[in-house]
Amino acid sequence: MDKVEFKEFAKAVIDKIVDYEDSLRDRKVIPDVEPGYLSKLVPKEAPEKGESWKEVFDDIERVIMPGTMHWKSPNFHAYFPSPNSYPSVVGELLSAGIGGIGFSWLSSPAMTELEVVTVNWLGKMLGLPEEFLNCSQGPGGGVIQGSASETTLIGLLAAKELTAKRIKKENPDMDEAIIKTKLVAYTSNQSNSSVEKAGLLGSMTMRLLPVDENCSLRGATLLEAIEKDRKAGLIPCYVIATLGTTSTCAFDNLEELGPICNENNMWLHIDAAYAGSALICPEYRYLMPGIKYADSFNTSPHKWLLTNFDCSVLWVKDSRCLIEAFTIERIYLTHDFISSTPDYRVIFNML
Ligand SMILES: *Cc1c(COP(=O)(O)O)cnc(C)c1O
Repeated sequence: MDKVEFKEFAKAVIDKIVDYEDSLRDRKVIPDVEPGYLSKLVPKEAPEKGESWKEVFDDIERVIMPGTMHWKSPNFHAYFPSPNSYPSVVGELLSAGIGGIGFSWLSSPAMTELEVVTVNWLGKMLGLPEEFLNCSQGPGGGVIQGSASETTLIGLLAAKELTAKRIKKENPDMDEAIIKTKLVAYTSNQSNSSVEKAGLLGSMTMRLLPVDENCSLRGATLLEAIEKDRKAGLIPCYVIATLGTTSTCAFDNLEELGPICNENNMWLHIDAAYAGSALICPEYRYLMPGIKYADSFNTSPHKWLLTNFDCSVLWVKDSRCLIEAFTIERIYLTHDFISSTPDYRVIFNML
């Protein structure tokens, strides 16, 4: 495709996006196709000779739309909200056009710096405690991840390294690998499926604790569970509290859970994947006392903030914990500004 054709194709697609937006209200939200419908509409083998962009363009309505769930429709009430917006679409386009990869400051300074600035903006808008922000004096900061699921797993892996090192220091004769088998994480039985999955992926026992009549996890329940585990020779390590559960938007009781986590050296992660965005509104700030006890906090602009999937932000109070847990040094990854710039590659999914 040459640049003339690219411009024609891309402009047609922009018009298509606007037409799609305008047609949303009239489209049936749920597709009525059967599994395997798409393979009947396209060739079995990749064509030897590419089709013109116009033919491909026509496939949008012929092949794609019949099997598209219209998440942005005003009549869509399933799963969770996932709207985007025109500026967000343009941002995706520009980013695809530039095609950079920002694993370190040096690999594309604008990417790292824009991420630092905008993540601080968002943190301030949410009213997060100062310690979570890159612009504070301390080691706190935020980083964009693909999904809330990833942030829960990152918290788990950081907690695992941190706890294993601490226990090893206190008990030099213990093997770090053995310590890791004894670590336990806790969450409520209302937490998102991704929380239980983080336990599976990170090989840590995940206890799904019962909740009170408001579907909220309470301090006494957590305390009882960790005492029981301690008696059995296990090591409490990680707690995931939810602000806004997926089923009922319940809030765990952070003011009770927070001090217990801090006193027992357990990493407290707050999963506020979708309800967290509501904290931008001052009238909902009463829901946030207790965030100050957390080690990490996550909310996803791809849910309520008109941003394309995938954009989920993780803030940590002490970014050194992630750096110590995840840094891999290679000669080709070092640069002169490494001590004065954040290196997002540390928790970038690839490197
Ligand atoms: C949506 C949601 C998740 C999962 O979010 P992804 O970004 O899709 O991984 C986790 N926790 C809660 C409370 C959610 O609402």
